[in-house]
Amino acid sequence: MNTVDAKEIDKFSEIASRWWDKDSEFKPLHDINPLRLDYINQHAPLDGKRVLDVGCGGGILSESMALLGATVTGLDLSEPAIDVARLHAMEAGVENINYECCSTEDFAAEHAATFDIVTCMEMLEHVPEPEQIVQACQQLLKPGGAAFFSTLNRNGKSWLMAIVGAEYILNLIPRGTHDWNRFIKPSELASWCRQSHLQTQDVTGMHYQPLSKTYSTGDNVDVNYLMYTTNADT
Ligand code: SAH
Repeated sequence: MNTVDAKEIDKFSEIASRWWDKDSEFKPLHDINPLRLDYINQHAPLDGKRVLDVGCGGGILSESMALLGATVTGLDLSEPAIDVARLHAMEAGVENINYECCSTEDFAAEHAATFDIVTCMEMLEHVPEPEQIVQACQQLLKPGGAAFFSTLNRNGKSWLMAIVGAEYILNLIPRGTHDWNRFIKPSELASWCRQSHLQTQDVTGMHYQPLSKTYSTGDNVDVNYLMYTTNADT
């Protein structure tokens, strides 16, 4: 399958046991979670919605969306990550959530036009042909539904901040987590969305401040960014 890089899946499987350790390599995902959850909920209120989280990993975002009242399905190809996600939801007593270890395209073929909201966060930069994942996300949406993406921009600053800074200087995440060549410019993502009948409604940056060690959202999309799109198909 050309939307899957088995080495990427293995990489996440090897570290799956630490997904919910907020001091582990997953700390950045825990730190940005309130920001992206708020972004999603502001644009598409989650309560009562049917939501699919593509590339959900250990379920950090999936579970938080379920806690806001959405009925959530989390999808990932890493079996150990899905096991961790299921166990965590069970221990936390979150019942309006289920997890599937399945490819996005196979899942889309069986569940077309099923979800009010599809989220795909920090995943496209780990995939060989991300435009096909974008297309599958659109296929999974009900008419008028909303899809949210987040990924890393591709430019000199993102190489410096997300590779050199995060992997080599600050040691926020393991070396080799990201391949700069797979980073995605907002214009590229917007164009894949357009081709898949998703209308881009908003692009917002997510920034890390090394001194305060905090994240915030803003206009600058140079490194990490969120994109909100809506399904143009009726
Ligand atoms: N979206 C989650 C996890 C991001 S880490 C979050 O932001 O909290 C990237 C995840 O994408 C990993 O769990 C990895 O297993 C998954 N992944 C990578 N390629 C994938 C593919 N082709 N299909 C499904 N999941 C994939």
